[in-house]
Amino acid sequence: MPRRATLDQRIAWHLAHSGACGCRPIPGRLAAEIGRRGITIPEPSVTNVAARKRNER
Ligand SMILES: [Zn+2]
Repeated sequence: MPRRATLDQRIAWHLAHSGACGCRPIPGRLAAEIGRRGITIPEPSVTNVAARKRNER
């Protein structure tokens, strides 16, 4: 597995997950790489955060 592809896949996964769920922060190294690429990290929507809190019970 090429390192580059792995990093791209991890970034794509975290961007999608952060926007849809927000159950975990993006690790510092990945967040730095995302910022270096000029990508804005999506905030989880209020609706999804509320749904997550319900699921934690
Ligand atoms: Zn999640």
